[in-house]
Amino acid sequence: MPREQMRKLQSERLKEVVERVYNNCAPYRERMQQAGVSPADIKSIDDIVKLPFTSKKDLRDYYPFGLLSVPQEEIVRIHASSGTTGKPIVAGYTQNDLDIWNEVGARCFTAYGLTNSDVVQVAYGYGLFTGGLGANGASETIGAITVPASSGNTEKQIMLMHDLGVTTLACTPSYALYLAEGLKGAPYKREEFKLKIGVFGAEPWTEAMRREIEESLGIKAYDIYGLTEIIGPGVGHECIYQNGTHLCEDHFFPEIINPETGEPAAKGETGELVFTTLTKTGMPLIRFRTRDLTSLNYETCDCGRTSVRMGRILGRSDDMLIIRGVNVFPSQVEAVICELPELEPHYFIVVDRLNNSDTLEIQVEVKDDFYSDELPKMIDLKKHIAHKLHSVLGIHPDVKLMEPRTIERSQGKAKRVDDRRKLM
Ligand code: ADP
Ligand code: ZN
Repeated sequence: MPREQMRKLQSERLKEVVERVYNNCAPYRERMQQAGVSPADIKSIDDIVKLPFTSKKDLRDYYPFGLLSVPQEEIVRIHASSGTTGKPIVAGYTQNDLDIWNEVGARCFTAYGLTNSDVVQVAYGYGLFTGGLGANGASETIGAITVPASSGNTEKQIMLMHDLGVTTLACTPSYALYLAEGLKGAPYKREEFKLKIGVFGAEPWTEAMRREIEESLGIKAYDIYGLTEIIGPGVGHECIYQNGTHLCEDHFFPEIINPETGEPAAKGETGELVFTTLTKTGMPLIRFRTRDLTSLNYETCDCGRTSVRMGRILGRSDDMLIIRGVNVFPSQVEAVICELPELEPHYFIVVDRLNNSDTLEIQVEVKDDFYSDELPKMIDLKKHIAHKLHSVLGIHPDVKLMEPRTIERSQGKAKRVDDRRKLM
């Protein structure tokens, strides 16, 4: 869709959704009144900046149903995000919302080149987490054979993948790595598998991790992006050019803001991603601050799609570690580790405070072929890794070499950081 036409569509839809939340959801109405803005002030998509933000805290404060814009009877499904502390964040879906979710999911799967001749194994967890049912809906909507394996039970996953001629694996990138390891020990030959495509998301992953997964599974690995509050997986997807993640901006309008000031970021600049749901009816969100850090690119893609593309998610703003005054993202560590041939793509970061100074320990797993009893060899390797990490992070980490297969593997979203300073 040409940009001007898209803007027109977004403008119309924004007016409608603002009207809806203002009339049907008291917290939105109050917030808009406080900000001195009414639906009549919203004439085009450019007026979106007049509207107040919504945050994760709002979803907690109005837990569970306070931000619904429809009577509760119209809600047909609930999902919730894990929420590491306290109450989870709950999202309510109307049938309209589920239909939109299936549609955007189908768009994603189509962009990866999938059709009704594919067999899709969904190894995201099924349940309150949106991953399983989201990918399931996408797969069924394009008419693919859908295998709702859910996460866990790696041996059975591999058997199903083999026996059913699975062409597509949908799971977290970290679980894909886990399955790749499982495949090495499985009683099947590589050529007996039909697997060719991976649909990976729900957690940040780097370009280096993509190469690692593509090589180990012998597939093409595509990004899928989403979050519970907005709808679930399907908010954005890569295309076969793997040149950024196309956002379904006719349904979810994206903005990038400076996370400190809340002001719009300059064109192409990295900042916090903010979404407004333009079409949802159950729990529409206006200018929801995702905390995900990325940038937007409005150029037409080589695939011909005109939809805006976002860059890789650097991490959530709350994933950023400040160590001895330096900003460190786990994704930076991942990029270095995946590039080193001596290491497995598994790592764990421990941050602590000793004598009033921050400590950073990075546990890395040495590959079988490189693991050695000869101490000098291991000391050299450790120095080499520490040097590489220092050049990217700007601070000196304490590298801890771990024996093969000793860092805990993840079947869902990987937990890769233990910040012990928060406990003090
Ligand atoms: P929770 O907040 O409990 O993790 P969600 O499943 O809703 O629950 O998580 C959504 C978040 O997961 C996003 O805001 C983003 O941080 C991360 N995420 C999802 N997909 C991707 C992706 N493809 N790349 C990077 N991060 C992703
Ligand atoms: Zn494209």
